[in-house]
Amino acid sequence: MITALAGGVGAARFLQGAIKVVPQNELTVIVNTGDDIELFGLHISPDIDIVTYTLAGLVDEEKGWGVKGDSFNCLKMLGRYGYETWFQLGDMDLATHIHRTLLLRKGMSLSEATYKISRSLGLKVKIIPMTNEKFRTFIKTDKGLMHFQEFLVKRKAKDKVLGIVFKGSGKAKPSPDVINSIINSEIIIICPSNPIVSIGTILSLRGVREALKETCGVVAGVSPIIRGAPLKGPADILMKALNIDVSAYSVAKLYRDFLDVFVIDNQDRDQIKEIASLGIKVYTTNTIMKTLKDKVHLARFTIEKAKQCMK
Ligand code: GDP
Ligand code: CA
Repeated sequence: MITALAGGVGAARFLQGAIKVVPQNELTVIVNTGDDIELFGLHISPDIDIVTYTLAGLVDEEKGWGVKGDSFNCLKMLGRYGYETWFQLGDMDLATHIHRTLLLRKGMSLSEATYKISRSLGLKVKIIPMTNEKFRTFIKTDKGLMHFQEFLVKRKAKDKVLGIVFKGSGKAKPSPDVINSIINSEIIIICPSNPIVSIGTILSLRGVREALKETCGVVAGVSPIIRGAPLKGPADILMKALNIDVSAYSVAKLYRDFLDVFVIDNQDRDQIKEIASLGIKVYTTNTIMKTLKDKVHLARFTIEKAKQCMK
């Protein structure tokens, strides 16, 4: 069994490669829900949807999110009624949010709703939300406290970041199976996702860090930072706001208490020594995932290095 901790786009790209290397039913993916948001009365789980659509072959590859070929008629009409439409929601995508919201309203947990949606889209991978409780990431800025999506999508990450607040953290329990699958997997992969607001949220849940330390499995991470910058998203802005240097080494330091293996990009070879000094096995390869071949290579490489570590 392999368990992966995942955010959105970076993780989904990696996992698209992973399902070509391991059978879907041997893979569990624990997904960040700190970015979840309620809009138009609907429960939206952006990272779960990115992972689900990507693995089901439905994603708009160019954007990295949403359904390919989707139209935006419903959103346009909502705009005419005077609603804010900064969060892009396609017509087919909306069907997912309506379905999820109805399932939740019937009394299902987010775990159960996520399972039902992924099975309907033909997936055998087990996708689980990190928690079934309400957990929201807020960004403290010079313009006030805002929901992560408001900061990133509406305001385009232009406000000065003063801090990051997890509402629900500390109290929130991981969803059933999160701890079990970490403890019982042979390999646990920390996907190349935002270390603060995608992986950091999962790590903040009760018992998750401890489980990663206690598991007999090998914990292997892939750096989302290449040559001192993320490929996409606000990881650099958020890391800087927390006084963390933007580097693969810094990400390794954030994970040092549980990480066994770290895969970094060829371009970051100069950091091998300092990462190794943390007691982590470091490997370099091309980690930029443009084509399916790149994704399969990175997934296979990471899994092989983790397996070597088991011996
Ligand atoms: P989000 O919710 O869509 O922002 O998803 P993630 O947290 O999973 O992804 C954002 C992170 O993924 C950023 O830090 C990116 O640098 C990283 N990322 C995206 N594409 C790639 C890639 O091809 N290779 C690597 N190594 N990292 C990537
Ligand atoms: Ca996200």
